[in-house]
Amino acid sequence: MKTIFERGKCIVDGIESTNLASDGGRGKCVPDEINTTGVTSGGLKLGDFLPDSMLRKEPIGLPELSELEVMRHYKELSDRNFCIEKGFYPLGSCTMKYNPKVNEFLASLEGFVNLHPLQDDEDSQGSLELMYRLQEKLKIVTGMDAITLQPAAGAHGELTGMMIIKKYFETKGETNRKKVIIPDSAHGTNPASAKMCGFDIVEIKSNEHGQVDVEALKEILDEDVAAIMMTNPNTLGLFEERVLEISDLMHKNGSLLYYDGANFNAIMGWTNPALMGFDVVHLNLHKTFATPHGGGGPGAGPVGVKAFLKDYLPKPTIEFDGEKFFRNYDVKHSIGKVRSFYGNFGVLVRAYAYILMMGNDLKLASADAVLNANYIKEKLKGVYELPYDEPCMHEFVLSGEKQHQQGVSTLGIAKRLMDSNCHPPTVYFPLIVHEAMMIEPTESESKEVLDEFIGTMLKIAKEIEENPEEVLNSPKTTPVKKVDETQAARHPDLTFKG
Ligand SMILES: *Cc1c(COP(=O)(O)O)cnc(C)c1O
Repeated sequence: MKTIFERGKCIVDGIESTNLASDGGRGKCVPDEINTTGVTSGGLKLGDFLPDSMLRKEPIGLPELSELEVMRHYKELSDRNFCIEKGFYPLGSCTMKYNPKVNEFLASLEGFVNLHPLQDDEDSQGSLELMYRLQEKLKIVTGMDAITLQPAAGAHGELTGMMIIKKYFETKGETNRKKVIIPDSAHGTNPASAKMCGFDIVEIKSNEHGQVDVEALKEILDEDVAAIMMTNPNTLGLFEERVLEISDLMHKNGSLLYYDGANFNAIMGWTNPALMGFDVVHLNLHKTFATPHGGGGPGAGPVGVKAFLKDYLPKPTIEFDGEKFFRNYDVKHSIGKVRSFYGNFGVLVRAYAYILMMGNDLKLASADAVLNANYIKEKLKGVYELPYDEPCMHEFVLSGEKQHQQGVSTLGIAKRLMDSNCHPPTVYFPLIVHEAMMIEPTESESKEVLDEFIGTMLKIAKEIEENPEEVLNSPKTTPVKKVDETQAARHPDLTFKG
């Protein structure tokens, strides 16, 4: 079939169809003749090859819309969505920061997008160089000695890291090390990743300061412990002050330390996991290093390791021999490939561009992220309960317990925020705080925006005291009002109704 596209029309085997709504063509690109009888190239009919009973009798029924109509449809759908371009997005632990649009431009440069992943190293020098240079930058920010860029998300980085730890102990013959210790405040992906590698999870409680209880840790440490997975700052937004003591204990026990670096926004340039004694780290490029995310990706979860674990990285590793950049498949104890081709390459381009653009200001970004979180925390505590009243890092966790007793749960507060053009914070996580609201403003927002959010939160608290019904009927301004979540789960309606 020979298809020619010209302005406003499309010609298939000499049969013209128009794309102009004014012409009645409504954008259809399949001429009626083909649409019904299945004419193929050179006038041959499908009917010459297929039995009559299998041939379509009715037109195929393709949607016939003009380009403008299609565009308006999708624009209207996107208008219903909430995004960082529309308003404040304090979704804790997700780091919904500003993602410079110039990164999108760079990630779509022809040389990057048109490079086929199966082309050999010689043809891919530019992309390999970018990856190599990104690895070098990530080595600096994490303090690690080697990096893989393959994993496609934070959780995938965790899985990769735990596979490395497992293989390391297997190679050393320490197959008894089956336990992984994980604090009760951890992100749910931590135990899931360790479990998928075949480890047994040992939960460790947080103490009254929201930090890992070191005395409890001493009690559960034995020769069967492979590693501890920690997030620092932890998911309460608190810095684990005894982390050096913990790494000392772990290493003396022959165990390793895994650092969940999804929330790296808190510490960039100020400290790093190597200084804290960690052996394996993952980063979320789509959180800290400016790739738009939400709605499921794409992401990238590079993993960094100390020198003694370099030979366990997924292969190929991306290396430089002084002249050429190349993919090295000769990695002695490699856990194998964890992702096809190069990983999510576009995300790597964005991260590299962001790091170059920021330079030493990465440090400033972390300082501002921490300052912004502390500012909101101080203004809201008292009205909302602050279970761990300590200086926080890039985020903090409030409890809506008081408001819950007045008749409105945290879910109600979250819904009410939507009426003020504000995305709700992360709610009901971490699990150790009742009615949790986890707030992360990021460094991107101005004091005016923070003040507006604080004002809204205080207004909602007052509404709950005076007229909880008003809050319970929210949201009122969103395209979809309060949904019946039980019904939605039991009888999902998955069709679009315009
Ligand atoms: C987001 C997050 C993860 C998981 O990252 P994904 O890219 O969503 O898989 C893991 N740990 C923490 C602390 C996180 O905030």
